[in-house]
Amino acid sequence: MTKEEKEKLYTVRWYVREKWSEPSAQDEVLEMLSGLLDSGSNPEDRPSVSATGQKLLWCPFADKDFPAGKSRGSYARGYPLGAVVHFTAGRRSGLKAGIDEQVRNKFLYFVIDKDGNIGQNFSLDSWGYHAGESSYPGLGSGVSRHLVGIEVQAAGMLKKVGSTYKTWYGETVPAADVRVIPRKNANQEAGAYQAYTKTQEEALIRLLKWLRENNPEVFDYKHVLGHDEVSPGRKNDPGGALSMTMPELREKLQKA
Ligand SMILES: [Zn+2]
Repeated sequence: MTKEEKEKLYTVRWYVREKWSEPSAQDEVLEMLSGLLDSGSNPEDRPSVSATGQKLLWCPFADKDFPAGKSRGSYARGYPLGAVVHFTAGRRSGLKAGIDEQVRNKFLYFVIDKDGNIGQNFSLDSWGYHAGESSYPGLGSGVSRHLVGIEVQAAGMLKKVGSTYKTWYGETVPAADVRVIPRKNANQEAGAYQAYTKTQEEALIRLLKWLRENNPEVFDYKHVLGHDEVSPGRKNDPGGALSMTMPELREKLQKA
């Protein structure tokens, strides 16, 4: 089976699990299955987009073998307009634990573990909750229905105890993993953060670039936002966990 064929099967599985009651999903599934059965043996005959001409709905380099997340409906344009960058404010417990927690809480988002592995358990035309109370100019309130969530596993803001930094759950963070923001800078609130690992940050940027390249008509880097930008005062992620401010990240993406 080629990668593209596997992507289609993930979409089929998602529709059967989550959207079977919708007649349009049944049509999509039939069309995708027909496309898979009709695809020739010549690899060049195989399209890189789904049988219906849509863009890929599953990231080719994400791990996808997880229980389905809770979708709240379809994006108005069939794909997210951008993304919200988060940290989990929890332990770096790996993809399986991260996705299990997400499913339990009925949220929906990508998870990136400390080694830069990416977990996806939803189809990219389906939105779910991740940002809570939020708003942004041009998007209105409740940005989860427009933007896909990306949760990067990191402890969040740290407390200084003597000469060490501790997570809110009492774990000491090695000095090399601490980033101190001395004063508020753009979206970054002043304070100490557990920094994203280098591989996490590389995976985040790779995922954002793929999300845009896969559907540049809809996904716009100007809508790659921090949770602290869409819920200012209430949320402080990614803040100083990311090695740059969100405006700097957007600029880096635009130039890439
Ligand atoms: Zn968040």
